[in-house]
Amino acid sequence: MKVGYIGLGAMGQGMARNLAKAGQLHGVYNRTGSKADALATELQVDAYSSPQALAAQADVILMCVSADEDVMQMVLAIAETVKPGSVVIDTSTVSSQTAQQAAKILKAKQADFLDAPVSGGVEGARQGSLAMMVGGDAMVLERVKPVLQAMTARIEHLGDTGAGQACKAVNQIMCAGINQAVTEALAFGEAQGLDMQKVIDVITGGAAGNWFLQHRGKTMTQGVFNPGFKLALHHKDLLICQHMAEQAHVACPLTDTTVQDYQQLMQQGLGDEDISALYRLKRNI
Ligand code: NAP
Repeated sequence: MKVGYIGLGAMGQGMARNLAKAGQLHGVYNRTGSKADALATELQVDAYSSPQALAAQADVILMCVSADEDVMQMVLAIAETVKPGSVVIDTSTVSSQTAQQAAKILKAKQADFLDAPVSGGVEGARQGSLAMMVGGDAMVLERVKPVLQAMTARIEHLGDTGAGQACKAVNQIMCAGINQAVTEALAFGEAQGLDMQKVIDVITGGAAGNWFLQHRGKTMTQGVFNPGFKLALHHKDLLICQHMAEQAHVACPLTDTTVQDYQQLMQQGLGDEDISALYRLKRNI
């Protein structure tokens, strides 16, 4: 089974490396070709100059690009050359609707599609410990599970196409609330004149401990906001969540506040910083 990977950004690089480590990666494509060339040389796999060229060779095509329109661009390109019986797996965070559209386009070419967004950050991608939320045909998932296991610690099948993305929306809404809670609490702690390294260490081990505090607490209190997860990307996700919440008549006030806060940071040119840059607003820095 030849596996190809499209989109070698912060997440894709880690996933592709873990596939290669497991002897599962055949080739890569990235829009900025130099990234694909460098990684292909490092991993001793093929570098493709177009998604069409990769799709013509691969039996399993994984991708991790940015937003809905980027996924659709890639799916349309893949559909030009995809082999019947191939499986396309999208690990980007996009809407359930986009997943359904992608599945329809590929079905017309006798190829299968799984929406398979992930959680666990760049650390999880690097370490192969991602949690993956899958929508689509369960039998197709079983076929490609050995490939996906090379980059994940947990794979959950949620239901039909789009269900993986719906689950990821739950995750993103939760992340918004956690970001608000952690940045607000740490800003408060700093204003109390506490030693924030000690505060973070002790709280991480208690009932309020969480992934975001553990992995981003110390850097944010030191004024370091390297991505991580770009806040412009989380903003994009939360707009999807707002749309879904509106349709389901569910109120998500923490999401609404976070969208506004991110917009403010993006207007200051900080969209490429990590989501922990929300701390800037809490501390006025
Ligand atoms: P990133 O570092 O900005 O990388 C984005 C990648 O997508 C790059 O390889 C980029 O190519 C490619 N790309 C974007 N638009 C494209 C297009 N129209 N055609 C072809 N390639 C395109 O982003 P990331 O952090 O890896 O995130 C990728 C996805 O994973 C997003 O949907 C994000 O929401 C999701 N995600 C991120 C995290 C995280 O912690 N970072 C965690 C879970 C999920 P170039 O190199 O040419 O720009």
